[in-house]
Parts: sequence; structure tokens; C-alpha cells
Amino acid sequence: MNFNDNLTGYLPEQRAFASRVQALLKEREVANPKAHIVTFGCQQNVSDSERIKGMLILCGYTLTEEITEADFILFNTCAVRGHAEDRVYGNVGATKKLKQANPNLMVAVCGCMAQQQSVADKFYKSYPYVDIVFGTQQYHRLPEFIYRRMTSKRVYELELDNKEIVENIPISRDGKLKGWLPIMYGCNNFCTYCIVPYVRGRERSRDPQEIIKEATNMIKSGFKEIMLLGQNVNSYGKGESHGVNFAKLLRMINDIEGDFRIRFMTSHPKDCTEELLDAIRDCEKVERHIHLPFQSGSSKILKQMNRRYDREGYLKLIKAARDRMPDVEFTSDIIVGFPGETYEDFCETLTLVKEVKFTSLFTFIYSPREGTPAAVMPDPASREEKGKWFNELLIAQDEISEQLNRSLIGKEMRVLCEEDLGDGVYSGKSEFYSSVTFNGTPEVMGNFVTVRVEKYENNTLYGTIIN
Ligand code: SF4
Repeated sequence: MNFNDNLTGYLPEQRAFASRVQALLKEREVANPKAHIVTFGCQQNVSDSERIKGMLILCGYTLTEEITEADFILFNTCAVRGHAEDRVYGNVGATKKLKQANPNLMVAVCGCMAQQQSVADKFYKSYPYVDIVFGTQQYHRLPEFIYRRMTSKRVYELELDNKEIVENIPISRDGKLKGWLPIMYGCNNFCTYCIVPYVRGRERSRDPQEIIKEATNMIKSGFKEIMLLGQNVNSYGKGESHGVNFAKLLRMINDIEGDFRIRFMTSHPKDCTEELLDAIRDCEKVERHIHLPFQSGSSKILKQMNRRYDREGYLKLIKAARDRMPDVEFTSDIIVGFPGETYEDFCETLTLVKEVKFTSLFTFIYSPREGTPAAVMPDPASREEKGKWFNELLIAQDEISEQLNRSLIGKEMRVLCEEDLGDGVYSGKSEFYSSVTFNGTPEVMGNFVTVRVEKYENNTLYGTIIN
């Protein structure tokens, strides 16, 4: 864990609330107060939780992995899948007993699930032991919420005001090698299956100079991989007066001195421009891997999803990228069984997968999200049918992954050594997003090494360090 305590610029009133919380904790003789954070969902939530942890440290808490010893428990929730929501209710319910054992314990719920009024109301009314409920655009006020709860009533703050972004929030990053760097928040796209625009508000881009400052600090503190985050990073800067778009931002980050690499997610095909592909080609620190969700290979279904590109447009984009960078690798997200999807539509997804040959896929069977247009669309295909299509897709992708991996034998890759597997064996990811396992000595950990791929066995690539 590393804590950024350069707080110049973080809201002075929040810093004052943090000091008051510290004083109150002392006054109430809470010795060594501890906080435990549970994060559900996507990288955006993981990144928000790093800032939440930073604010908790500022309030005087230390972080603990043990929920039973915590004086503050926070659930940062996700609204994308029903299954995750059920787990949140179960987890929050379990804190009732912990509160009986520890009267100082405070419980907070935030994130995309809590942003939905009906869910927030449920937490507030049916879970009286939840002290603080707050939405996705209010988390920078956590010190104030804790102070208010310590001195008065329960807190309920859901305002989604789309105001400017609060900068310089303290951060306690989870890793030391690979770090998240949010460049924008919210989404303007309103894909018909997605809850994000309703729970995270409209698109807002961070100031490019703030991003450069944060990236520079990360590199100075030893980070070797920076993952730029946003719901649609390709539309970074739209509507802002600074005139920096995502292509320009990539070039600016690429110019920062140091040995590091740049990844980004998530890209929307409709905003992936030739200018951006040129920037990816030209920037040597940007990885040769693009995560470009296509969701469905059927233009009919894409229209119903409101994705604003069609099958042909997507394939053209892949070609434009490969014309510039023949070795670029793609990964994608796919939804199987969108309302109204037929087997013929699904087959178009299957043929697209076979044509593009993605390194890997993140595949989901459609699950309705209350409050989205797709949730009320007629959906005649049964869950069983969709399950069969899904399995067909997995089998096809397994074959493609196997072929692609075998084709890498003999290739040299630059790998960031991320994991010590024991007995002198290490693993890491290449610039093409492939995982490679190799023998090495302890000093390779956390460094870039060039590895030649020797074999592919049991779904794993094995290689040898050549420098
Ligand atoms: S681009 Fe579409 S899928 Fe992605 S967050 Fe926005 S609305 Fe959701």
C-alpha cells in the first residue's frame, strides 16, 4: 500500500472534517481504529475504493483485511449484475451481528447499486444498522459523512449533480506495479442494456494536466503500468474547452520520462478514430492490445442495443488498426441472448469472433437491469437456449485462443514480471496481453524482461528470459 499524502488542493473543508474525525476517535478512546473495504464490480469501483481508502487513512483509520476487527466497514457496490447485488445484501446484513459486538462500528454503502433511489431507500429503511448511504458523485465527501454520523443522524446523500471533478483526493493504491488512473467519469451513450449512465451521470473528463501530474507521480513512485480508466476513454475531452482528445492525451502521457507502459479501457468502437489508431501506433509505451467491446455481431441487435455502429463498421475498424499495426491484439466483451436475439443473430456473433480472432473474450448471458430500456423488450429465447449459444461461443473461442497461443511459439515479447510463483518461477503479461510463465531470479520481479516463448501447455505459455 502506498499513501499519497500530498493533499494540496484537496477540499480544505474535507481535510478539516478528517481532523475532527481523528479527534473524535481519540476522544471516544477507539484505539487504533481500523477500516475494511469490500469492493464489487469493475475497475472504476476498484479505483474509487483506492481514493476512499486514502480518505479513511486521512481520518485516522488504518486498513484491515479482517472484517471482524474493523471499526468502519464500507461496501462499494456494483449495479451491473443481479448476482453481485444479492451478495451485497447478504454481506451488509451480516454486519448487524458485528455491530452488536462493536458499538463503535460504522457501516457505509456506496457505489452504483446504492446510487439507485429504490436500493438506497431499502438500505436506509430496512437496514437500520447502515449508518451512511452515498452515491457515486459524493464519495469525495466521506470525511464529512463520517463526522456527521459520529455527531448526529444517519447520512443519506445521493445527489447526481454532474459538477466538476474534485481533484487531489488522497489515494491509497492497492498495488505498487500496476495502477489505475481514471481519466473521465460517467457515460453519455445510453446503451439500452446498461445502467451506468443512470448511476454515474453524464460524461466528465479530468483536466489533462491533472492526469499528467498523477501519471508522473505514479511513475516516480515506481509504477510500471498505468491503466487509463473510463466508461468510454475514446470520447475523452469531448465538450471540454482544453482541446485535448484521447489521441492527444496518449501522446502526452507517452512523453513522460520513464520505463513504463500504458493501457486503457474501455473503448467504444463508435469513438475509435483513425487519429487514435495513429497515436496507438506511434506511442512506443502504449501496448499493442485494444479492448474493443463489440457486444453483438448482428447489426440488427446492435441497433437495438443503441451501440451506434454496425457489424461492417466494426470490422472496418479492426482492419484499420491491423493495417497500421499488424501484430495488434484485440479482446472484447460480448452479450449473448440480448432481448429479441435469434440463433441467426447469434451466428453472426460467432462468425465475427472467428473472423477477428480475439486473444480472449469477456462473455455474458444477457441479464436484465431494472430501469433500462432493454429490461422491458420482448425476450422470446429461453435461458436454456441462450446457455447453449453461450457454450458454443466458449468452445469456438477456446479453439481460437489455442491457435493464437500456439502461433506465439518462437516469438519474443517484452513482459512485465508481476508474479512470483515460487521455486524460481515467475509470470507476467506481454505487450500483447498474453500471460507468460518463465524461470528467473528474484531481481526480475517488478521489471520488464524479454522472453522468448518456447511452448504452450495446459493453457499456459512458457518461455525463457533472453535478457
Ligand atoms: S458505453 Fe454503453 S455499455 Fe458502456 S457504460 Fe456507456 S452505456 Fe454502458
